[in-house]
Amino acid sequence: MSDMKKNIEQIHGRIQKAARAAGRDPDAVRLVAVTKTVEAERIREAAEAGLDCFGENYVQEAREKIEALADANVSWHFIGHLQSNKAKYAVGLFDLIHSVDSLKLAEEIDRQAAKRELVQNILVQVNVGRETQKSGIDEEAAAALVRDAAGLEHVRVNGLMTMPPFFDAPEKVQPYFRRLAELRDEIAAQNIAGAEMKELSMGMTGDFEAAIAEGATLVRIGTAIFGERT
Ligand SMILES: *Cc1c(COP(=O)(O)O)cnc(C)c1O
Repeated sequence: MSDMKKNIEQIHGRIQKAARAAGRDPDAVRLVAVTKTVEAERIREAAEAGLDCFGENYVQEAREKIEALADANVSWHFIGHLQSNKAKYAVGLFDLIHSVDSLKLAEEIDRQAAKRELVQNILVQVNVGRETQKSGIDEEAAAALVRDAAGLEHVRVNGLMTMPPFFDAPEKVQPYFRRLAELRDEIAAQNIAGAEMKELSMGMTGDFEAAIAEGATLVRIGTAIFGERT
């Protein structure tokens, strides 16, 4: 068995274990395999090993791979920072855009989705660590952005995403995941029309088990599957 296949089996096992430990259904946690810098050929190998959802950070890089894997029955998510002027390339190409952090971007996505006569699923990215260098909207402004974005005809808000501050110990990150889950619950309680608030995109190679413990429904994992990026 290839290293990648072994990695995938291991990650599935760890996701299941973390979900059960939290009293959750393992099927409620979806693995988004992060493929930035990974070549199409290896992504195909991962798809053949059973992965069905891939996350990309750059639109141009993703377009080539999506084309190369057009015959594979897989889903593509956009997880990187999206500039408004690139929205036209991302809309419709990705089943879910995880990183919407401004109304300006949501409105541009809406415009582009309207042109293509589709409804684009998005997540609102929240900067729970209040780090100046990180993308994401502040907690206090998140509910308003969900409401405004959900009011757009061609945008559907599915939930929240975060990139917490970096720590080498998952237990230090866990409170940030908990905060995102609380925020999701607070916003869900407002019953905003057009916002489903089911998804929590959080957790990467170093901390996905802590994220699952706090309710992650989408974990974004690259290194543990494909190895260190060069
Ligand atoms: C690169 C990246 C990941 C995956 O990180 P790993 O540590 O390799 O698992 C997850 N989310 C985002 C937004 C990323 O840019």
